[in-house]
Amino acid sequence: MSARGTLYTVSAPSGAGKTSLVAALLERCQQLQVSISHTTRTMRPGEQDGVNYHFVSHEQFTAMLAQNAFLEHAEVFGNYYGTSQQWVEDTLSAGADVILEIDWQGAQQVRRLMPDTVGIFILPPSREALRQRLTGRGQDDESVIAKRMAEADSEMSHYPEADYLVINDQFDTALEQLHAIIECQRLQLSQQQARHGELLAKLLEN
Ligand code: 5GP
Repeated sequence: MSARGTLYTVSAPSGAGKTSLVAALLERCQQLQVSISHTTRTMRPGEQDGVNYHFVSHEQFTAMLAQNAFLEHAEVFGNYYGTSQQWVEDTLSAGADVILEIDWQGAQQVRRLMPDTVGIFILPPSREALRQRLTGRGQDDESVIAKRMAEADSEMSHYPEADYLVINDQFDTALEQLHAIIECQRLQLSQQQARHGELLAKLLEN
């Protein structure tokens, strides 16, 4: 029998490098998938529908909400975001670990529904680094950047709700640390027993 996958939430203020870190983590880790959220926000240059997000209209989002299609949903920066309940359930049941890249509101909802969820928070090394990363992205105008700095304060205040905290100063170090969290969870006794039941039975027969 293979173990049911573990559900992770990864939260961070915008500009902390969360998306790049998760993308690199996926390349490194087998049996790990990231959920593609539905959002009503408009696509940014370089983004692709069905890759970065499922971009939907307000009407589509509201219809999905009415059908209980979302495990969690939240309004962030004036746009709606939601996680597909069915996809998460199917992927965990198939034995893969799932990462939800969601804000603190979504992480709270998921933790209430699924208390086994492992919460990870990523913080930048300084406010200045955060500001630079938000400005350096070059995709949003000044008012959006100012608004995001204010929202970052609100998001960062929720870091104590997580189980693990990673400071993204050096990208490679932060990546190693994220990888270590996944490996550590996978080595828990209950998971190893589910994964290696046959081996354990054979080792102890006598
Ligand atoms: P962005 O629009 O910059 O990609 O994301 C804005 C914020 O929305 C980020 O904090 C991101 O984690 C959060 N977010 C993205 N998808 C979801 C989701 O499905 N649910 C929730 N609650 N937040 C999400």
